[in-house]
Amino acid sequence: MKSSGVLFERATTKLGWHPFPAPMAILSAPHNGRMACQNCGFCQGYGCEFGAKSSTLAAMIPLAEQTGRCEVRANSYVRKVELNASGRATGVVYFDADGREQVQRARAVVLSCNGAETARLLLMSKSNSFPQGLANSSGLVGKHLMFNAGSIVPAIYEHPLNEYKGAQVTRIALDWYDTDPKRGFYGGGGLDARADITLPIFFALNGAPPGRRNWGAEHKRFLEHGFTRQMTVMGHTTSLPVEANSVSLDPDLKDERGLPALRFTYRDHEDDLKMARFLLECSKEVHAAAGAREIFPIPVEVQTMAVHLLGTCRMGNDPKTSVVDRFHRAHDVQNLFICDGSSLVTSGRGQPTMTIMALAFRAGEKLADFAKRGEL
Ligand code: SF4
Repeated sequence: MKSSGVLFERATTKLGWHPFPAPMAILSAPHNGRMACQNCGFCQGYGCEFGAKSSTLAAMIPLAEQTGRCEVRANSYVRKVELNASGRATGVVYFDADGREQVQRARAVVLSCNGAETARLLLMSKSNSFPQGLANSSGLVGKHLMFNAGSIVPAIYEHPLNEYKGAQVTRIALDWYDTDPKRGFYGGGGLDARADITLPIFFALNGAPPGRRNWGAEHKRFLEHGFTRQMTVMGHTTSLPVEANSVSLDPDLKDERGLPALRFTYRDHEDDLKMARFLLECSKEVHAAAGAREIFPIPVEVQTMAVHLLGTCRMGNDPKTSVVDRFHRAHDVQNLFICDGSSLVTSGRGQPTMTIMALAFRAGEKLADFAKRGEL
């Protein structure tokens, strides 16, 4: 448990809430050729050079490669899924690492580019059979984009906490997870404690309290004192699925390969902002109960976290109101599967990665069944 875990556990217990150990999916002992966590502190936003953090890169791809049936063509970029006249996917067109266009034939195609690029690839794969984008007879590819709304409340404590070391989060609480009609709006969520900024240079650029300048002697004193004494309580809640929030192809802007650039259209649902503000107030209480010396909440005005890209190829039984079925198979194309955050119909009230991974395992088993039964 980190310092933030100790302080968070003490404070939330004092306030009558129920903290518990955060599920981290990080190895505490060597396993399958991977090392245990070395507490380097680079979990958030970086690969783990020890393979302890169970990202797909560390936990799954090496195992797949060991079977001899998986080849990773790094730095390749798929621009189109190809169809034949009978509406089956026949493979993909991609740029290889040298930028040359290649075609890869396939018996089944699985897209796992998550809520932004999967939708973009389908929209770029339009054809005479699918003039508004592949697998898009519903018109819903790219719609219902969700992130996960949240709140951020940093604080400075009296003594060094050294939160820059180790895994991000060791204690969380979900006492606010269910919707409570007494709050007057729909939604729920949870809190965790962490060092939001573990690199000194980022702390220098972004760590100063709102309204305080981030240069000069006063700022240097703040950095020297504050970097080791910082702790952030973060709130996590939904982005409700709003059809108008979307990923689409920009009609004018192109990327470096000349392909239509990604365009986001997004407006927060008012209930998400209200829930984030509610969690922000709870976070302030946690810091106060933990004995923080200086608390500086970041005002919740619009969605700023936007780290999860979800919902743009939603799952459902009805092809008119969804893109993939419950086994992640596209309603419109029998041998096209989509396994990533785009199939989620709600954003959940926290981090979605474990749900996405669990659903991908389930989809993989179904795909193997379909192949054995000759149904691909
Ligand atoms: S702190 Fe995170 S990145 Fe560093 S070794 Fe542990 S799991 Fe890997």
